[in-house]
Amino acid sequence: MSQNARAITLLAGDTPLRRIRDEILRRERFLLTSHARPDGDSIGSQLAMAFALDALGKRVRIVNADPAPEHYEGFPGMERIEIAPTVTADVDAVIVMECSDLGRTGVAGLEGQFLINIDHHAGNLLYGALNWHDESAAACAEMVFDLIHALDVPLNLEIATHIYLGILTDTGSFHHANITPRTFDICRQAVEAGVNPATMARRVFDSNSFGKLKLIGALLDSMELLDEGRLAVLFMDKGMLEACGCTNNDTEGLINLPLTAREIQAVVFFRIADDGSIRVSMRSKYDVDVRRVANAFGGGGHKNAAGFSAPGRLEEVRGRIIELLVAAIADGLQSRP
Ligand code: AMP
Ligand code: MN
Repeated sequence: MSQNARAITLLAGDTPLRRIRDEILRRERFLLTSHARPDGDSIGSQLAMAFALDALGKRVRIVNADPAPEHYEGFPGMERIEIAPTVTADVDAVIVMECSDLGRTGVAGLEGQFLINIDHHAGNLLYGALNWHDESAAACAEMVFDLIHALDVPLNLEIATHIYLGILTDTGSFHHANITPRTFDICRQAVEAGVNPATMARRVFDSNSFGKLKLIGALLDSMELLDEGRLAVLFMDKGMLEACGCTNNDTEGLINLPLTAREIQAVVFFRIADDGSIRVSMRSKYDVDVRRVANAFGGGGHKNAAGFSAPGRLEEVRGRIIELLVAAIADGLQSRP
């Protein structure tokens, strides 16, 4: 692991959370960013942080490499997110959330800045001047919640909405093995601040177009079952998308569908990205660890949700990925009580 040479050394008794709080309080201008192809946790963490910094009277910019999926439009503050591949930042600190390495942002030009790295992914490279890495957090939004609390900013509706959004999506709608009592405690406080869980669930998960419903049909129709039905393999290319009037943005969430079958323990979803590379996403139940498969190909994620991009042709990597997944399923089932 390459630790940043410029990382600030913490004194005894100090914690990353406290140091980050202090540095935020003494600085004025912030740039917030997160990973390319944003998801609910990256959007939620950034916007919760932005609204908290507003409350402290700070100046805030948010820059992302890619636009958010359409169904996040209309969430508070979405219009504040600038989309740019490069940034010339004249700021006092850059807060990078949800990124195990700086390259995950897809935004160039951040390297020389005072970086505050806040993340819950395994294998974070600790690239910041300040690094707060907590794998036990179900969502980065849980960590942002703690930071906002430490900054003494009250939970207003905008902040609560984005904290809840991050948790709702990163727990796979309260399905993943990363949930703790703390998760519900934070959600309880968010609901107390005015968040409506039914509305949130409908907005995030039930916002399909008719085209997407058709796509679900086509995708499940072509699903392959391997390992005696324990592993589902999904594939999608441009042709399938176009036939249903969909774009790559409409593929979010589809990977979870096979897991609704009792027997299926893991899913792998192969997509051909616009640049021709293969995008591999994996999901699993309980102790089936798909992150270790992603790690084998230079990717990452969490035990129940991981991914990576593979150059080259699908036929060249597919066999090895399936082999590793079958092994991960066998190991995961062994440790199941
Ligand atoms: P996805 O399948 O793209 O939704 O990603 C699932 C999880 O794996 C998310 O937490 C991602 O942040 C993580 N992940 C996906 N691709 C990568 C990658 N190339 N490197 C590190 N983490 C990744
Ligand atoms: Mn996350």
